[in-house]
Amino acid sequence: MRHVLILGGTAEARQLAGRLVRRRDLAITLSLAGRTAVPAEQPVPVRIGGFGGPDGLAAYLMAQQIELVIDATHPYAAVMSAHAAEAAARSKVRLLALRRPPWTAIDGDLWIEAGTIGDAVRALGAAPRRAFLALGRKEVDAFAAAPQHDYLIRSVDPIDPPLRVPRARYVIGRGPFGEADDRALMARHQTNVVVAKNSGGEATYGKIAAARSLGIEVVMLRRPVLPAVTAVETVQDAVGWLDHELPPITERGV
Ligand code: NAP
Repeated sequence: MRHVLILGGTAEARQLAGRLVRRRDLAITLSLAGRTAVPAEQPVPVRIGGFGGPDGLAAYLMAQQIELVIDATHPYAAVMSAHAAEAAARSKVRLLALRRPPWTAIDGDLWIEAGTIGDAVRALGAAPRRAFLALGRKEVDAFAAAPQHDYLIRSVDPIDPPLRVPRARYVIGRGPFGEADDRALMARHQTNVVVAKNSGGEATYGKIAAARSLGIEVVMLRRPVLPAVTAVETVQDAVGWLDHELPPITERGV
């Protein structure tokens, strides 16, 4: 069995695992950071938690005799992607990045680009606003610096402890989130600005489309710089790349 490691945390990682599980000549392990209390079910064996930096990952690749790594982490998980590039190069293990393309603004979008989370907080301005934060725990914390705003915060797990601001409401949800539901949510909360990451893909685009139709601004956190490695944009292309790099020996049941 040839061992493949998928660095996951995204829908694409799960879909890729679902495609590769058909290959009986491969042992697939999917790695999660462990950010959510109840991770989504995965079609392959899962390991959870950090590796201990690039050294730890390099040691893991060697111990597990990993032949190939697919970095299918979230586009904002830049630290993990950098560690994967470094450990794979050092261990001479082949690496592919599966990165969904970012969204691009279209007619009617009112986007304000922010380079850092601090810039995003400042972009809300001094006057009180009603902001919808569709961000991860780490980013949400930064908004304690702007307590004048009224926040609506959506996250997979409860934000605990809550954000230290006088007015914050919370919505728990894993997505996908459609445009109509997000428009209703934002109208109900009288949202007048959205703060989001440029995650790309369909699952979380609802709030962006809803903001456009409601005519409200989106403070869009710019994507981090990711390592220059071989990359594809779709699960299908990742499967094709892997089939080329590790041609199938036998196929199960298809
Ligand atoms: P990160 O800042 O790139 O990674 C921080 C550390 O977490 C890494 O150095 C690594 O620890 C560990 N890690 C990250 N992904 C891992 C994986 N797949 N398997 C094992 N360990 C992993 O990434 P992040 O803290 O997870 O998130 C950064 C951004 O991505 C945030 O904006 C977050 O909201 C977003 N995001 C992440 C996920 C996710 O599942 N990770 C999902 C959706 C969105 P070691 O150095 O110890 O190896």
